[in-house]
Amino acid sequence: MRSVRLGGSGLSVSKLCFGTLTMSPLQRNMSPERGAELLVYAYERGVRFLDTADLYETYPHIRLALRKAPDYVISTKAYCYDRATARAALERAFRGVDREYIDLFMLHEQESLYTLRGHEEALDFLEEQRALGRIGAVGASTHYAGCVRACVRFPAIRVVHPILNLGGVGIRDGSREDMESAVALAREYGIGVFAMKPLGGGHLIASNREAMEYALTSPLIDSVAVGMQSAAEIDANVAIAEGDAAPMDALRGRRREMMVHDYCEGCGRCAERCHQRAISIVDGRARIDSSKCVFCGYCARVCPQFCIKVV
Ligand code: SF4
Ligand code: SF4
Repeated sequence: MRSVRLGGSGLSVSKLCFGTLTMSPLQRNMSPERGAELLVYAYERGVRFLDTADLYETYPHIRLALRKAPDYVISTKAYCYDRATARAALERAFRGVDREYIDLFMLHEQESLYTLRGHEEALDFLEEQRALGRIGAVGASTHYAGCVRACVRFPAIRVVHPILNLGGVGIRDGSREDMESAVALAREYGIGVFAMKPLGGGHLIASNREAMEYALTSPLIDSVAVGMQSAAEIDANVAIAEGDAAPMDALRGRRREMMVHDYCEGCGRCAERCHQRAISIVDGRARIDSSKCVFCGYCARVCPQFCIKVV
């Protein structure tokens, strides 16, 4: 597996990044033992970079995996808006993975220049922690091309984690070309880029080979985060990262769907939480527009009735 530099952040990572959202309670809800098993399997196949989040609750999976896979570069992210929330999230990450150093710590789901400005105190704290050697690099994750452009105004941000895929799926404020142009600008500032959702959360599964080839060969993208839930998926993704696309064909039929149980009470919390604006309340129940949904599972987390599932 190729090792690449994440822009000028100082981090070296594998071309393929193991995205742990898929194993989290938001999606497949794997046990820490099963999640760790997959992470170790990927490590043995050469993957050296993993991504998680405060929200995902996969620190236990990662902590177990690190016993056999100690050289994983860890990326995490959290909803921090001031010093206190940033400090608390960083401490949770340290405790969660049982390390006193996090390679990449990002502000989660940033939307715009205004969101970043509103969270500048958290950024300042994280940058101080970087200077103290407790964080390798500071970054921001986003579904907005405009936010990627805004990141260049914040010297603390050395990595961006944008949604970028062949079909432009999930980009909230424009097309794939808009995001490519924003990412090109970020790269001019030496910002490292690792892309999320190369298969558009499942929408591009029918053309998975082409979608992965785009993400893995684009000169704009340093590394690609992919959720993998079996040894076969790891094998296929490692193979295509190493130039052999054929094993991807066997994964083409795997579709995802969102399910809303009929005991939904129509409270609307899920609709407020969905940044893709994919949920509306119709006749007193949540209805999900699958053409907008990227199957992140974040809505399921806020449902008081536990009636949303990614299946
Ligand atoms: S949060 Fe749950 S109960 Fe409320 S509208 Fe959404 S699915 Fe229904
Ligand atoms: S509907 Fe739920 S799973 Fe789909 S994009 Fe919105 S928050 Fe994510």
